[in-house]
Amino acid sequence: MDLLIHACCAPCSTYCVKIYTDSYRVALFWFNPNIHPYTEYKKRLDSMLSYHVAELVLKDEYLLEEFFERTAKVDNRCSACYRWRLMETAKSASENGFDAFTTTLSISPYQDHELIRREGVAAGNIHDVEFVYNDLRNGFRESRNTAREIGLYMQKYCGCIFSEAERYLKDQCPSR
Ligand code: SF4
Repeated sequence: MDLLIHACCAPCSTYCVKIYTDSYRVALFWFNPNIHPYTEYKKRLDSMLSYHVAELVLKDEYLLEEFFERTAKVDNRCSACYRWRLMETAKSASENGFDAFTTTLSISPYQDHELIRREGVAAGNIHDVEFVYNDLRNGFRESRNTAREIGLYMQKYCGCIFSEAERYLKDQCPSR
């Protein structure tokens, strides 16, 4: 069985690849136009390129305007953000003969897992490929330790400019 894993970043990929290689032949898929600014995007992409444990399918497109168009006027920007990235992963999986797809977002305690599951299943239904969801949050700490050991870049915020502000404003104001 072939599994295409949407890779949000190299650190999260370390644990997910380890877990899924027991049951699947895996490849990683990079499509993350949600990472701002470009210098941060490039750091995370370069880190991904330096990590060679699985084949990497690259969709290296920095679509800043489209990100804002897709997320500006919706109730939940994360939902739109997941939808876009998982839809592209499902499309690529379907076009390239994968049996299923998943995402490294499922390792993060900071993401909304119910939304990830919902958007993944919807994307899979549209592109006729199975979405595999497993709650891998108990591997988050191990992924960070592995990333530190092998010298991968470790980001300080989720990705978009909104999440960057939330991350650092929280540091300034303890009541948030
Ligand atoms: S916080 Fe993260 S998941 Fe939500 S819109 Fe921003 S980059 Fe996407």
